[in-house]
Amino acid sequence: DKSSDPPRYTCILRGTLRKQLTYTESAALPRRVVKAKMPPQTDVVAVGDRVLFSILPDHTGVIEEVLPRRTRFARAAFRGKEQTLVTNLDQLVVVFACAEPNPDPWRIDRWLVAAEAFGLEAVLVANKRDLVDETQFQRSFGEFAALGYKVLPTSALKETGIEPLRHVLRGRISAFTGPSGVGKSSLLNVLQPGLHLKVGAVGDVTHRGRHTTTVRELFPLEGGGWVADTPGLRQLELPALSRQELAECFVDFRPFLATPCRFRDCRHETEPGCNIKMAVEQGHLSARRYRSFLEIAHELEQSRPK
Ligand code: GDP
Repeated sequence: DKSSDPPRYTCILRGTLRKQLTYTESAALPRRVVKAKMPPQTDVVAVGDRVLFSILPDHTGVIEEVLPRRTRFARAAFRGKEQTLVTNLDQLVVVFACAEPNPDPWRIDRWLVAAEAFGLEAVLVANKRDLVDETQFQRSFGEFAALGYKVLPTSALKETGIEPLRHVLRGRISAFTGPSGVGKSSLLNVLQPGLHLKVGAVGDVTHRGRHTTTVRELFPLEGGGWVADTPGLRQLELPALSRQELAECFVDFRPFLATPCRFRDCRHETEPGCNIKMAVEQGHLSARRYRSFLEIAHELEQSRPK
């Protein structure tokens, strides 16, 4: 029912068009302004921000104040600057496909690490469940369920597993992420039939799919909750984390970090008396996850400006 939709206002940022601020309706609002010395505009206000705005006579708005952000999901470096992609998210819905393209546990790790790094809950969606049997599904996603992550098998094609997904989205602000071609747009279209997101074909031999999504906003779901699906979210760039921070982002490592290693500044690599290495040797931690940790740690250290 469109008539019950709240009105929408197209807003500009206060300060960018200062001269046009000859309106009256804003008189009641506090005149506190986004600070004069502005960081890049993408960081002043971003998708997900809650703002106070004044309404102009022509029914456009002027953003007066950006309210404090609960969370901030950023892309590490974009033209040398950190770029805020979405704010105030509750959770990251990490979508992978059971097949076509095959799920890559190393890439799944990275998304889960990113979620942890930004203080977001992560839900792992295993889409295209229709393409594999239970054994194959378990082989690919069982280890992540064992880590404690919620793993939701879905098929956007057969429309199975949709209700449990709807359930985790209800009342929360979520962002859909994951490689292209796994069915994010298809899932969103099933969740919200009015959306009509363009669905790409996984046509080429590499099965990599194409980037076809152009939606840049946060949209409300019928069942409650909001979903962000911005293109920038789909390319994963981990924030600059120290080794210690990275280790904390591996949820399975946490119990073994609770007691300090022999060396206070242990890098969990070659040091004797390392709790993490010991846990791997004793089979309490997955050797694959440990290798993944080292790989990401090396990568972050290499990309760090000296
Ligand atoms: P996105 O890039 O992650 O948004 O993926 P799309 O939604 O564009 O889907 C990529 C391709 O996978 C399209 O050809 C879809 O028809 C197909 N697809 C999406 N979901 C499913 C599914 O659950 N099962 C199967 N077999 N194919 C799917």
